Amino acid sequence: MHEIQVNKEKCRTNHWCVGINSCPQKAISQSDKSVYPVVNPFKCIKCSICIDLCPFGAIERKKVN
Ligand code: SF4
Repeated sequence: MHEIQVNKEKCRTNHWCVGINSCPQKAISQSDKSVYPVVNPFKCIKCSICIDLCPFGAIERKKVN
């Protein structure tokens, strides 16, 4: 099983994540631009739009379980 996750080693923060407005499921949230965005695995449909858009390659498909 896979989940879409933010890689904190690649995410630069200090900007609003492009995925917030691009995600068709509104699965990405970020309480402030200085903190890491979070992907809600219950809303995410793994469409990969955010993976393609992140300029830092910080959103990744990760194997879980
Ligand atoms: S993979 Fe698609 S549904 Fe999931 S967080 Fe990214 S844009 Fe949203």
